[in-house]
Amino acid sequence: MDVSVAAVVVLLGLVLLRWGLILFGALLILQPARSCPACFRATLPIRRPVLNAVLPVAEWRWCPACRWSGPSLKSPSPATPSHSEKVEHWTANPDR
Ligand SMILES: [Zn+2]
Repeated sequence: MDVSVAAVVVLLGLVLLRWGLILFGALLILQPARSCPACFRATLPIRRPVLNAVLPVAEWRWCPACRWSGPSLKSPSPATPSHSEKVEHWTANPDR
């Protein structure tokens, strides 16, 4: 192996190691932000295709009340009642 090829491989490895450490640090810092960190109201997810491609576990959120926006860790959406739970609720309260 030529020395210049070895130098390119080592430098490329160092660049990839740097990107891996940056992504790992970003994952450690990110927190789920279903409520706004500034005004504690509910936030909305914003579509960011590049962010989804680079970090699929992260999403961009926006607060309509105070216009805060920032990255957050994806959290599971609030549980919607399943069909069987709706049927059980309807059978328990048929007049509603
Ligand atoms: Zn807010």
